[in-house]
Amino acid sequence: MSKHEDKSTVLLKHHLKALKMPTILAECEKVAARCAQENVGHLGFLLQLCELELLDRERRAAERRLKAAKFPGPKTLETFDFKARPSINKLLVLELMRCEYIDKRENVLLVGNSGTGKTHLATALAMEACSRGKRVRFFRVTELITQLMEAREERQLARMRAGLSKLDLLILDELGYVPASKIGAELLFDVISTAYERTSLIVTTNLPFENWTEVLGSERLTGATLDRLTHRCHILETRGDSYRLREAKRRRGGKRDEGSVEAQEGDEEGRD
Ligand code: ADP
Ligand code: MG
Repeated sequence: MSKHEDKSTVLLKHHLKALKMPTILAECEKVAARCAQENVGHLGFLLQLCELELLDRERRAAERRLKAAKFPGPKTLETFDFKARPSINKLLVLELMRCEYIDKRENVLLVGNSGTGKTHLATALAMEACSRGKRVRFFRVTELITQLMEAREERQLARMRAGLSKLDLLILDELGYVPASKIGAELLFDVISTAYERTSLIVTTNLPFENWTEVLGSERLTGATLDRLTHRCHILETRGDSYRLREAKRRRGGKRDEGSVEAQEGDEEGRD
């Protein structure tokens, strides 16, 4: 390489850094050598570099979105056994994987007992949304309420609400496991009503609708919450017994009695 080329390479790398093009910076010499060998013209060379930068940018953005969503653990539809949960409308789940409900600001409600795959399906749907460029955040309801109360105490509620309003999809997992305090229920209601027709919600719950008052406290709040959640909503019911319990029984080849397996299942639930 001539002295002149040396100098211009250094300068080029400096400019690429300033322009924030890390992939072009890393790849330009390699691609230049290959293009020279293959007789690819200048524009073809530039095209190859731009494509590499764009692909890498998209990959990094997808990683950031996944991290920001704070999923409890990765779950996919490939590992979901639909045969074990016949009450689930598989066609509807596949349709929801296309994420059109998010563009239409519709909600998804997953209702069923503990261990029946609600969090699994909610996560699989939300991870797909993430990979399609949607901004997603996963919360357990108790965690969200705690964070809202803390934000309120620290006069950061407006900031937290602004953050939530930027999302395309908000997952509220385990609505109804613990009754909310009056303030907690009101803060939660505020999130749900702000999301209404702006941000899609996926809500998982073990509660039949008639019991929601127990958790939210007031009939007025329950009515208003249900009204917003269920307007333009896809409902998936996970009927039947716990998948963990079934798996535990299968692993033991049905040798142990049910009582001991159920006691173990209780332990697992507690750890969730
Ligand atoms: P829920 O949220 O309804 O309490 P989870 O989604 O947490 O239940 O499911 C409990 C465990 O069982 C998870 O590890 C989940 O991946 C698994 N699971 C539940 N249903 C299925 C299923 N139909 N196929 C495969 N795994 C399942
Ligand atoms: Mg769950």
